[in-house]
Amino acid sequence: MNENPWERAKSQLKEVAGRLSLDELLISRLLSPNKVIEVSIPVKMDDGRMEVFKGFRVQHNNIRGPYKGGLRYHQNVDMDELKALALWMTMKNALIDVPFGGAKGGINVDPKKLSEKELERLTKEFTKKLASVIGPNLDIAAPDVNTNSKIMEWVVEEYARIKGHEQLAVVTGKPIGKGGSEGRTEATGLGGSYALQAILKKLNKQPEEMTVAVQGFGNVGIFIARYLQQAGFKIVALSDSKGGIYVPQGIKDIEAVEKCKRDSGFLAGCYCVGSVCDLSNREKLGGKAVSAVDVLELPVDIIVPAALENSITEENADKIKAKIILEMANGPTTLKADKILSEKGIVIVPDILANSGGVAVSYFEWYQNIHSEKWDKKKVFTKLKKMMKLAAEDVYKTSLEYKVSLRKAAYIVALRRIEAKAKISKN
Ligand code: NAD
Repeated sequence: MNENPWERAKSQLKEVAGRLSLDELLISRLLSPNKVIEVSIPVKMDDGRMEVFKGFRVQHNNIRGPYKGGLRYHQNVDMDELKALALWMTMKNALIDVPFGGAKGGINVDPKKLSEKELERLTKEFTKKLASVIGPNLDIAAPDVNTNSKIMEWVVEEYARIKGHEQLAVVTGKPIGKGGSEGRTEATGLGGSYALQAILKKLNKQPEEMTVAVQGFGNVGIFIARYLQQAGFKIVALSDSKGGIYVPQGIKDIEAVEKCKRDSGFLAGCYCVGSVCDLSNREKLGGKAVSAVDVLELPVDIIVPAALENSITEENADKIKAKIILEMANGPTTLKADKILSEKGIVIVPDILANSGGVAVSYFEWYQNIHSEKWDKKKVFTKLKKMMKLAAEDVYKTSLEYKVSLRKAAYIVALRRIEAKAKISKN
């Protein structure tokens, strides 16, 4: 059975808060979101029918600044999932030290079943319902699973229509040219690669020696695979929800695989030799088919869950052969799995550190919008690298100091920062 992510998020928080003897009031505040919003979203479908969808926004905490967190469109979205994701945003934003609190939202919908026009009407109606509780200094959304820069642009348009003037900083992850930042699309993947390298340096391990399998081939999975390869890691497996490819000698051209998946819709057939990608190349490359689940059990050095929550559970934790897990997805590891993995001595680079590059560059985008600035990609990536390295080193140092896992250390760093800000605000 799937573990409830909200119960897990609270239990992770309580465990660490107990060790830190944090103020009871602060713990209580963090254990329940400031505000939860549920709206119904009536949408006219292309065939003239009306359909009603459920939308949510969880504003978890704003001690450190405006609420900040993505919007997810998925058929399994529910309030408990979003509460957990919002709490993790509060922690993540504190950990990388951006002046934001945490939020998350979404719509219970399978967007692949909607036309582009239906998706636009759905997004604009959702924005209308949320307009009074979001804003550049109040609550700022961003892309998450199944949402993208186009959807963010629709939010900006509708918000401008309602408020009477455009306010770009109401969301981040917008298209470049429409207020988006250079580097935002790549940021989560690139940030993950910086975080991993900073931790490996502490462990005296070299990228060149290491093989990697990635689960999830969306925004995050694609860029983490690309950037890890650029850093010298050998990517041997990639997968999405329909299956994947495994090439033990290494997947040479990740961009060709991406194009093949875009064109064919099936990653599982994308064995590329030169520019020709086809299932018939599998044998030539010594490749093997792998399922979305099995990809995590391959004999590799590093696995990268980059899909959804609960992909590593008590059922498969024991079968994991990798020695390092880079959690690019939010909440991929259940509590029981976490325990099993830690007993096996597996190092987990936790989600709130590994995937925080996305919100780091979201902060840069928001800052550029507010100050009417335009930074080039080099500036964005230089700042991102510095932020990720600092956060990773802080987490590593704290894990040694408290003799705890990197996950607990990440919570300790984040909670200390939230506590400090809460004290300043009280005085
Ligand atoms: P996406 O929609 O672009 O991609 C999701 C990928 O996961 C797709 O390839 C999909 O096929 C795959 N997938 C879905 N269900 C799967 C399953 N059961 N098994 C294997 N693969 C499956 O989403 P994304 O933006 O890449 O987000 C992925 C994860 O990263 C999520 O947990 C998200 O919260 C997290 N994240 C995203 C960002 C961001 O900037 N986009 C930032 C931080 C964290």
